[in-house]
Amino acid sequence: MTRRLTRGTKLVVASHNPGKVWEINQLIAPFGLAAVSAGELGLAEPEETETTFAGNALLKARAASEGSGLPALADDSGLEVDALGGAPSIYSARWAGSSKDFTVAMLRLHDELASQGAWHGPAPRANFISVLCVAWPDGEHRLFEGRVDGHLVWPARGGNGFGYDPMFVADGAQQTFGEMEPKDKYAVSHRTRAFAAFKRDCLEEADDASGDGPNAVRDAAGFAAAAANISSKAELVTFVENLRADLIAKPAEWENASLDRYLNALHSWIADTTALDGDEPKWRSLAKALLAAKSYE
Ligand code: IMP
Repeated sequence: MTRRLTRGTKLVVASHNPGKVWEINQLIAPFGLAAVSAGELGLAEPEETETTFAGNALLKARAASEGSGLPALADDSGLEVDALGGAPSIYSARWAGSSKDFTVAMLRLHDELASQGAWHGPAPRANFISVLCVAWPDGEHRLFEGRVDGHLVWPARGGNGFGYDPMFVADGAQQTFGEMEPKDKYAVSHRTRAFAAFKRDCLEEADDASGDGPNAVRDAAGFAAAAANISSKAELVTFVENLRADLIAKPAEWENASLDRYLNALHSWIADTTALDGDEPKWRSLAKALLAAKSYE
């Protein structure tokens, strides 16, 4: 009999990547699990020293479970490109460097494919892969894998999603993952597929029909995750469009809904914050400032 995560169980999402924590939260919320992220618990991020997705997922889930005394869910994922012998694979995040700038990673991917002559002829084949691991404090664990196949395009297109999304077109689609609305990406994504296997084995029935698929609404956490992941001008353009749509749809949730108050808060937040220190990409800094001014006092 497989061990299940019953309603009300507190589950640690073992990731420090806000985009991923948000996606996983969207997936598990309908099953009555209370998710808390490893970052919120102050748990250190373990170094990913294994050589496979499964090895790294297990290492992260175990570290979070042992550090918190709670069951933990980790995901290790990445992009595999056929013409590069599977690279960047488990190094997908590391190709973006310490500032996690995915315009840098995508340019490297483009250049490595160009040096193989892979942009001539049929589009280069690639797949995303996600391995989920759930680990319990007593040492038991389970692994689940999902993948989505497709091809790469250049130039990259679209401002949604994160990572390599603007370069990837899933089989059967025309748009890149970066151009798709979140709900359309989640309908086919590698993470959703790995999650379906996890759900079958470890979760109880969902509250309602939303448990049949991810319910990817743009809530406050979604905006924060998007701002924290922005790497390009195209992503900032989409972000600003979505921010404006949010103001029109939910003005009551904006402390600073008038232009006067908003600009004043924008000015004060930029003057006060230390969140923009360091070498993060400039588009990301702008997105964070625009979002913070929604409610900064
Ligand atoms: P991890 O945190 O070590 O699992 O890093 C996974 C990396 O793979 C991410 O930083 C992205 O670069 C890439 N990746 C994984 N899933 C996706 C996705 O859904 N879209 C775009 N890139 C992804």
